[in-house]
Amino acid sequence: MKRLVITIDGPGGSGKSTLARALAERLSYVYLDTGAIYRVVALASQEASRGWCDQGSVADVARDIVARKRLRFERDTDGTQRVVLDDHDVSAAIRTPEMSAGASTVSAFPAVRQELLQLQRDLGADGGVVVEGRDTGTVVFPNADVKFFMHASPEERARRRFEELRAKKMRVTFEDTLRELNERDKRDTERQAAPLVRAHDAVDIDTTNVSIEQVLQMLAERVEARSRG
Ligand code: C5P
Repeated sequence: MKRLVITIDGPGGSGKSTLARALAERLSYVYLDTGAIYRVVALASQEASRGWCDQGSVADVARDIVARKRLRFERDTDGTQRVVLDDHDVSAAIRTPEMSAGASTVSAFPAVRQELLQLQRDLGADGGVVVEGRDTGTVVFPNADVKFFMHASPEERARRRFEELRAKKMRVTFEDTLRELNERDKRDTERQAAPLVRAHDAVDIDTTNVSIEQVLQMLAERVEARSRG
């Protein structure tokens, strides 16, 4: 069967990460988390004391990460994916609310997005990949074989994110989580460069009241139908 490029875009907490990971596992495809790349740029900029406000400075950091191959995705034997920057495992460090805000800030710069575009395309070039993010079906892989766009109500998305952070023992309140999520959605949707928007040919999925298993089954059926031709 043909090994496809599948994109899943949507806002935070829409279930896209869980589903992209599960779908990749089910199909024995590679899972590509593009949000992690923006998070790594935010972290590396902070570590280089460059902050997140100056487009040129953040773009330099992004270019350096790509040019010197400072970023790697590694898979543990149990299937967990680790994000490695300069040989350090930064999987947890990039998942804090601070880095969520940082990623959303630096990703609004067109020069930063430009620096990271080819890297994302290269990572998915061989097909057999489930790519997840905000613009993967519109900008990164406009010719993807199957595209999905996921969303859910803001309260449900904040509830999921809140539980995720609490499970990681982070001290957060539901109200702060909801506010941060709404701010990030606003920035991601209203920015000029590659805003969060559904590709015209993406399948729209509301995950508010549906179980992960149900959605996964639906995604897998679509993909299997497509890969049979
Ligand atoms: O998906 P995740 O929450 O890890 O993404 C973090 C941030 O990175 C998003 O809020 C968004 O601003 C940015 N992003 C993006 N384009 C992508 C993936 C993520 O702009 N393809």
